[in-house]
Amino acid sequence: MEHIENMTRMMAGSLGLEEPWYIIGAQFDEKEMALHIHVGIRRAAAIVCPKCGAQTKRNGYESKERIWRHGDVMFYPCLVHCRRPKVLCPHCGSVQVNAPYERKNSRFTLLFEGYAMLILADMPIAKTAALLRCDEKSLVKIMRHWINKAVDGMDLSDVAMLAIDETSFKRGHKYVTIIIDAAKRRVLDVEEGRDAETVKKFAEKLTAKGGDPENITAVTSDMSKTFLPAIADNFPKAENIIDKFHVKKVLIDALDEVRKAEQKAVADKKELFRGRRLFMIPEAKLTNEQSAKLAEMSKRYPQTGRAYRIVAGLDDFYASRTLEEAESGFDGLYSWMRRCRLAPMKAAAETLKRHKDKILAYFKNRITNAICEGINSMIQAAKRKARGFHTFEGYSSMIYLIAGKLQLAVPKPF
Ligand SMILES: [Zn+2]
Repeated sequence: MEHIENMTRMMAGSLGLEEPWYIIGAQFDEKEMALHIHVGIRRAAAIVCPKCGAQTKRNGYESKERIWRHGDVMFYPCLVHCRRPKVLCPHCGSVQVNAPYERKNSRFTLLFEGYAMLILADMPIAKTAALLRCDEKSLVKIMRHWINKAVDGMDLSDVAMLAIDETSFKRGHKYVTIIIDAAKRRVLDVEEGRDAETVKKFAEKLTAKGGDPENITAVTSDMSKTFLPAIADNFPKAENIIDKFHVKKVLIDALDEVRKAEQKAVADKKELFRGRRLFMIPEAKLTNEQSAKLAEMSKRYPQTGRAYRIVAGLDDFYASRTLEEAESGFDGLYSWMRRCRLAPMKAAAETLKRHKDKILAYFKNRITNAICEGINSMIQAAKRKARGFHTFEGYSSMIYLIAGKLQLAVPKPF
């Protein structure tokens, strides 16, 4: 039986070693409970210069052996040892030769990094670190390297429709702006902050990566005072559409204010507080039981009930089938809100009125907006995965990994 011979071939294959590289030997350290593999290069082998490809003379070895972490073997951590050769190049001078399984400045083998990236896409960082028995900092470094490389290589020449949104991280202490290709449903850029500067920075990146701000035909966003002018400035030919979810948020916030005010004024405030979530469910999604309970609550708390019906009216408006229908629906909703004798709803009515054209633009670009709903849930998923990341870099890398549809250059173990 050729156990040993087989195992040697397995190790060399896993590390991508080809002659003149070879496995010198391996041993299992029973104290450490780890496998150590020793890698070398044939003494007589000619090596071309890694920088310029010229013929070289061998120039000894690096002074200290290096160690890389490789994928576990039978659940034991595996470490690869090597003293890499140096060469003397007529053009470049003395050059350090890298091993086939390594990336410069990484203490992990390429295949280990590929495996880590696969797991990171599906698991929180703390669990990934525990599973791979390595620290979170190293994982963030690995992730940033491969993500940055892929992001730098992005081709944005065909980008025409954008969605721009802000989201918070670090429990709401910090904000990032996320820019999405609404046609390909992928994150194109994650910028720190949520001001006009972030939009400008993206427009510059777009140009640098083969795109053209003049080619942008539609941009979906919220109603923020910073985004709207920044979009007009940077994408002069784009139609600006206010995202349906952000319009709804304005009304939901108003409903919440109405409910809080009514809660203060009535004797049985606890009942209304306990039932507050019921008023957040869209009419179409209420169960029969919830529907009956809501009708009863609306009678008891007429202001909140009235605000709820206005929010439902917004859903009806969005169900419009044509632009004409939508326009009259908008006007109807607006005058209803103005006459409803609920201060927060009246204020919300004016907000909607100010953005009427951009809200109605939704009905000209339905496709863009149907996509935004999907992207929104994708971002939420990325945010959940990114929860363990405390720096902007780690957080943005995670968003790219989940929602960037990137072509990563790291080799996959399977
Ligand atoms: Zn050279």
